[in-house]
Amino acid sequence: MADSQHKQVRTMRCPKCGGRLRTKKTQPKGTTTKRRRVCVQCGYRVSTVEREMI
Ligand SMILES: [Zn+2]
Repeated sequence: MADSQHKQVRTMRCPKCGGRLRTKKTQPKGTTTKRRRVCVQCGYRVSTVEREMI
């Protein structure tokens, strides 16, 4: 059995202070999913749009 070195780093960090980002789930519109991330330290907001690949 091979040891998998899969590192699932899904945790994004604030580009400003490097704090943790809170992920807010939003309802998907069509094939795109909007995700809002808010820093718990400085309140920096990061919005990302992810495409669902089917
Ligand atoms: Zn921050």
